[in-house]
Amino acid sequence: MKFTHPAQAPICVPVVNSDQQFPIHRIYCVGRNYEEHAKEMGYTGREAPFFFLKPTDSLIYVPTGATGELPYPSLTKNFHHEIELVVAIGKGGKNIKAQDAEQHIFGYAVGLDMTRRDLQNDMKKQGRPWDIGKSFDASSPMGPIVEKSSVHDLENAKIYLSVNNEDRQSSHINKLIWNIHETIEHLSAAWELQAGDLIFTGTPEGVNAVSPGDLMHGSVEGVGSIDLRVV
Ligand code: MN
Repeated sequence: MKFTHPAQAPICVPVVNSDQQFPIHRIYCVGRNYEEHAKEMGYTGREAPFFFLKPTDSLIYVPTGATGELPYPSLTKNFHHEIELVVAIGKGGKNIKAQDAEQHIFGYAVGLDMTRRDLQNDMKKQGRPWDIGKSFDASSPMGPIVEKSSVHDLENAKIYLSVNNEDRQSSHINKLIWNIHETIEHLSAAWELQAGDLIFTGTPEGVNAVSPGDLMHGSVEGVGSIDLRVV
């Protein structure tokens, strides 16, 4: 086959304790899926989940134990961290019911939905798409994928982020407004899920800005951790 320019290599994330790579199809994100975060963003109540996408090549893979470098993006003066549990889809489908969702999950990872908050807020005010605030280059750092059989009691797991060793975000996965199975039901009603899709399931309260030089440490208990320096 002849290409007009070099074809992009598949974007993959390694699977923990395996020689396998998980090739990424799409990156879906859930908005405002923890009540206390919805409140800090000026919303209340249990609204239907809503979704946005990030480009697959916005993913930065950070091996466990390494410190990844996260470039401070252009155009923003308010670059926010959002620590999130990431669900990796192993089997596709559409109109998946919550009670059937478990069989579509391959595993889990820790990720950050990095956000140019000032640009996102400008776009919200103007009723314009969020892409410039959410879907920029290097906006989706994440750690390796852990197969679901190795993850126990995820419901009660702590989700946590510190910046320069100061607590910033701390909550539990059971505080998700729409749990993982319900999220898959809603998402697969709108898009046909494919093996290789990632779902960033939303962030708890405590989102805030980082600056160049800051060191972020994020974790989901039983899934893993991620370390990043903003450069
Ligand atoms: Mn988010």
